[in-house]
Amino acid sequence: NPALRLNDLRIRYDERTENTPNGVSFDVAPGEVVLLLGPSGCGKSTLALALNGLVPHALAATLSGSVTVNGIRTTDAPVSRLSQEVAMVFQDPDAQIVTGTVFDEVCFGPENLLLPVAEIVERAERALRAVGLWDRRNDNPDILSGGGKQRLAIASALAMDTSILVLDEPTANLDPAGIDDVYAVVRDIAAAGAHTVVLIEHNLDAAIDLVDRVVVLDRSGALAFDGPTREVLAG
Ligand code: ADP
Ligand code: ADP
Repeated sequence: NPALRLNDLRIRYDERTENTPNGVSFDVAPGEVVLLLGPSGCGKSTLALALNGLVPHALAATLSGSVTVNGIRTTDAPVSRLSQEVAMVFQDPDAQIVTGTVFDEVCFGPENLLLPVAEIVERAERALRAVGLWDRRNDNPDILSGGGKQRLAIASALAMDTSILVLDEPTANLDPAGIDDVYAVVRDIAAAGAHTVVLIEHNLDAAIDLVDRVVVLDRSGALAFDGPTREVLAG
């Protein structure tokens, strides 16, 4: 079974806009690392939100076709259920921070799952070590660099222990040092093979060497290319 299946997904915010995404179908196999590319405004972020059910509930968009995550149709399950299958990292490092310390921040998601304290602490330590922030655990997240904040957002996603990780332009708001910092972590996650990863970017060069496959949307939100990374590099 695929980890993700999109079947003719179309989302339209209102009558004045086109569908974005516009009839997109593709599967992602468990453990696959996929780069989703496309120009700004083509629907990448909207597609990302659809992967954990946030579009129909939070944005009142019209959605047709279907999205299935680990066999669950996103329109049939509450966001709380989908959050156990798909973890997300967004563009803005500051918008994702909700608590007072780096450690508390990573505990926040697992706490909302009402897990036993020992498991929350164990997950938080594992996630912070994975992104190189264990030594910063008592710091206020506000004093981290932009790259550090995004690594914290990635740790928070890892602490959810989902099989699927979606990163929506995680370096869009970072300086070159921050971009390198975040991609070092993404590279480790991709190489470890424990997650199905969808990495969204508008720039191919940033991520091409750490993904198995590339999916491209065109300006109209339709699927323009879907193939292994080596075909992209060859062509
Ligand atoms: P990105 O292109 O980096 O994914 P956003 O998702 O924030 O950035 O925005 C993409 C486009 O969607 C922008 O052109 C923005 O103006 C538009 N947009 C975002 N939110 C809204 C909204 N609430 N209403 C109308 N347009 C919006
Ligand atoms: P991308 O991530 O590829 O930049 P988005 O998914 O952010 O694209 O946006 C796709 C389209 O939907 C754009 O035309 C954008 O203006 C529109 N859009 C995005 N968010 C909203 C929103 N909240 N309300 C209305 N339109 C939106």
